[in-house]
Parts: sequence; C-alpha cells; structure tokens
Amino acid sequence: MPAVFARKALIQGDWARNVRLHIDAGRIARVDVEAAPAADESVLGIVVPGLPNAHSHAFQRALAGHAEYRGDDEQDTFWTWRERMYRLAGRIDAAALAAIARQAYIEMLSSGYTAVAEFHYLHREPGSGDRRALFDAVRSAADETGIRLTYVPVLYERAGFDNPRPQPQQHGFALSIDEFLEHYEEAKSHAHDGMNVAIGVHSLRAVCAESLARVAAAARSDACPMHIHIAEQQGEVDQCLDALGLRPIEWLLENAEVDSRWCLVHATHMTDQELERLSATGAIVCLCPSTEANLGDGLFALRRWLSAGGRIAIGSDSHISINPFEELRWLEYGQRLKTRSRNVAAIGRRHTGRRLFELAAEGGALACGLPGGELRARAPADFLVLDDHNPMLSGHSDESILDALVFSGFTLPIDRVMVDGNWQLVDGRHRSREYARSEFNRVVRSFLAAESGS
Ligand SMILES: [Zn+2]
Repeated sequence: MPAVFARKALIQGDWARNVRLHIDAGRIARVDVEAAPAADESVLGIVVPGLPNAHSHAFQRALAGHAEYRGDDEQDTFWTWRERMYRLAGRIDAAALAAIARQAYIEMLSSGYTAVAEFHYLHREPGSGDRRALFDAVRSAADETGIRLTYVPVLYERAGFDNPRPQPQQHGFALSIDEFLEHYEEAKSHAHDGMNVAIGVHSLRAVCAESLARVAAAARSDACPMHIHIAEQQGEVDQCLDALGLRPIEWLLENAEVDSRWCLVHATHMTDQELERLSATGAIVCLCPSTEANLGDGLFALRRWLSAGGRIAIGSDSHISINPFEELRWLEYGQRLKTRSRNVAAIGRRHTGRRLFELAAEGGALACGLPGGELRARAPADFLVLDDHNPMLSGHSDESILDALVFSGFTLPIDRVMVDGNWQLVDGRHRSREYARSEFNRVVRSFLAAESGS
C-alpha cells in the first residue's frame, strides 16, 4: 500500500510528529504516528488538510483584472460589473470554458484548494444551444487537473422579481424547472468516484417560489447540499422587500426548510434577527472576501455569526484572486478595519489563522458534500505538503504555523498536493501548467480581440 511520510501532520485537529499516512483507493487507510522512516522512504515536511473552495464560477477567471477601470457609467458598481460579466459569458463555448476552467483549477490546486464546488448556470452553449456541452467542459477540466469536483447546477429562470423572463444576455443561463431537473438527473448519472453532485438556485430574484420549492425538495430527497446566492447587494435586499415584503434571508427562513445542508453564499446584508435564526439552522454561509471586496458588496457580520455558533466556508467566486489563505486573511482584516481591533475571529481561541483554517475546512467539506475537513483514517486522501524549510514557517510553533500561512506571506510554501490519493502538484508545479497557460492565454486574447472589434 503506498504511503506518505511527513515530519509533522495535522491529524484530527492535533499536530502529530513522524507520521505515515497509508493511502488506499483515494482514502487514508491508516495513520501511524511517532513512526520511523524506512531507509528508502522520502520524508516530507508538514501535512495539512486541503481546503475546499465552496463557491466558484470558473468562467469568470477570464475576467479577472479586466474590469478594474471606470467606464462611462456614473457609478461603477456590482451591477455595471455584471454587464461586463454577461458580455464574457455570451462568448464562452465549451472549448473556451474547458481552457479557462483548467487554468482556474490548476491555480486552485497550486494555492491549497483540493476541492471545488462549481456553481454552474451556463446551461446553453452560445451558438449551438447545446444543453450539456458546458457541463462536460467543467467535468473534463476537473478530470484533467485532478481537483475534486462538486458540480452544482443552479436554476436561473427569470431576470428579476418583477420580470418573469430572462433578459437577452441571460438567455444562456435560463432553463425551465423541468429542463433543469432533467439536467440535474443526467449530471447525477455521470457522477463517479471523485465527483459529487449538489444542486442550487441562482438567487431569489432569479427563480419563482414554486421552482425554489421543487429544487429544495430534490436536495432533500437526495440529501445533497443546496446552494443559493443571497443578500449580496443592498439593491437585491430592497427589490426583495418591494416584491415579497420580506428581506431575502427572512423570506427564505419563512418559506424553505433551511438546515445544515444549505449553503448560503455571501449573506452580506443580514439583520441581527436574521443572523440569530439562520445560525440556529446549522446552515453554512459561504464567504468570498476577495470578490465581495472587489465588487463593493459590504462586510459580513463575522464576529456575531461566529459568536452565535454559525458555520462558514470560503469561495473564490469571481476568481479575482485564487488563494484560500488570502480569503481568510481578508475575512479577518475586514473585521479589524471595521472594529479597530485585532484577532476578531479568534473567539475563545488564541490563534486566529488556525481557527479560520479549521472553520473553512469543516464548513467547506459540508458545503461540497464531502466527508472530511480533517485528516484521519478513512477520510479522503486530500492534503497539502508544506515546505518546512520555507522562511514563512521559520521559528513557528505548532500553534502558529497556520497563522503564518494565513497572515504572513504572498508566496505560499506549498510543495505538494494530493487529491484522491494522487499527487497533483509536485515541487510546487502542476504537470499541465504550461499547456493550461498557453490554452488560457489563447482564449483570453481571442476574447479581447473580439471585444475591441465589436
Ligand atoms: Zn457567485
């Protein structure tokens, strides 16, 4: 049975020394601690669990850095960014999506994400109208790169609360509820070991109440995670109040059986009362701090949420940045800037980086429908090997290693990454890195040429 030997590993939340992880069929079969390496056995540095990326729109990786200028609009907001994102989405065929997702997934693996929940609403390929080509592109990008995929098809049926039809730019997203559930069943039939299927709706504004109920019923009967964007923007809260008489989270709590399988993405604008009620359901809030900052969404009430026992996951969402440690850093920094205090997330615990890491590992696994969040026998063999000679980790005690990883570096000390029992990154490099880069560059240049020509 293959095995990995490390000087130190985070096993079931505790540091262990001289650890041998026996790997079998993609899982950790056994863990030996205080072991001695065999004469011919290579000894690696520090093993920690990989982090799940609980919210991704892979195609938006092609937009990262291309919307950081002020256009003709008087105010540049989420809604003006969305118009640029729609122009991009309208150009993405299956070949382009495969190239973009491949690059995004390699960047995820290289920065410490071992799993991704792909929140997918590009249901019709531009031009052909094909209803499974873009799903196949996501699946093949995950297969080629080796990241663990949770495919989350999401329903998008209308332009807004008062507009039952999609806008022309949303045509590629829109499916009827019957077409959508048919697609979900088909996706499930393609699920194989290493790929999960969850389900979701884009947002309250994009679906009617009856359709939301049918999607939630499918999630309940399959016991799979149920994802939704919610309360990201104040404008969305105002529209919901106008149309339904309640705020989005309030409405959801009144009209759906929200429980620990639900993953509410953003939940930025939430009253104290909504926060108390939502935390009691066990639902996960998926926070995407670099995207939320980039789009000017607002700040999540992290301290109150964690004090109420709320669960979190993190996601790279628009991929303006792909780095889980940067997400965790900005999650904490937003709170420090707001409260003019330090170590806000470290409630009841002394170390902020470690607490954030553990919360994101556990909540991310739940949101992706994975067993795990920590390394132990029978858990998936999904982990990172850190280079313990890297200056970032110099002089750090067991308690502060994860603080260093979250707060003190730009270049990550990730030496190797294993997913499903296979090395996907060795010596800090993914085997398909050069190919992925050249294909991604080609696609992005062709988009830019088409933009400037249109
Ligand atoms: Zn999103």
